[in-house]
Amino acid sequence: MPEPYWPKFWKKNAFTLVDAGKQNFLVKVSCRYCKRARLFETADLVETFGDMEVDHLAEKLRRCNGCKKTHTLQVGVLLRTESEAATLIRRRLVKRRPVWRDER
Ligand SMILES: [Zn+2]
Repeated sequence: MPEPYWPKFWKKNAFTLVDAGKQNFLVKVSCRYCKRARLFETADLVETFGDMEVDHLAEKLRRCNGCKKTHTLQVGVLLRTESEAATLIRRRLVKRRPVWRDER
């Protein structure tokens, strides 16, 4: 399996979900244990977690939906135009849970 493509500027700046979306990247989340891989639209992830560094996404996702193990997920980005992007299953956000906040 080819490694996810990491932009060259990765180490220099925080690379966030919004940045990735602007540059036509999809987020690939794969499990080291069961090898399950899914592609996410950056917009769906922003909707769920807010804009954050792609690097920190694995901590948010936590558990693999396939084997249910924790700490096995690795997150990378893939250009929408790469051939691998066409072969992977996409996981789309179907419904957003409302988040409520008390204010005075
Ligand atoms: Zn797994």
